[in-house]
Amino acid sequence: MSSKIAKYPGTEVELDDLRSGRFLSSDYETLLRYSWTSGVAVSRFLDGLKSGEIWGKKCGKCGRVLVPPRAYCEEDFVPTDEWVRVRDTGTVNTFSISYVNNDASRRKEPIVVSVVDIDGASPGMGILHLLGEVEPKRVEVGMKVEAAWKPKGKRRGAITDIRYFRPRG
Ligand SMILES: [Zn+2]
Repeated sequence: MSSKIAKYPGTEVELDDLRSGRFLSSDYETLLRYSWTSGVAVSRFLDGLKSGEIWGKKCGKCGRVLVPPRAYCEEDFVPTDEWVRVRDTGTVNTFSISYVNNDASRRKEPIVVSVVDIDGASPGMGILHLLGEVEPKRVEVGMKVEAAWKPKGKRRGAITDIRYFRPRG
């Protein structure tokens, strides 16, 4: 047994193996349906969005309010235990002016993607979202923003229930 095999168990497949028919390949597409749970913390967060509310969880040990909520504090390795409703306003922590869509296609008009630190959450707790109703060149770190919610009947328990964050006042 060579050391290569011992270190990486399994059979390596080279292009020649496929060309020679040693291994078969197929263009067959499988139809797989699946679902997954968001987990307790994020499920409640998403339910809150449907109601136009943003919820976080507080760690009883360090006192941080985590948004989006987590079931465990990653600093203390303990379960978070208190739900805290935070505001739907915040501060631009960082942003990027993008000419690329999420499918990597080019855009003519830019979008502004930002991490918004949410008021009532601990520093550095932010939501990655779009900014709207603002000229990209006017966006600044530290800008105060508020959530622009979809109409109540059109929310479905997703982060997109917030259309974007826009400058406040
Ligand atoms: Zn903690």
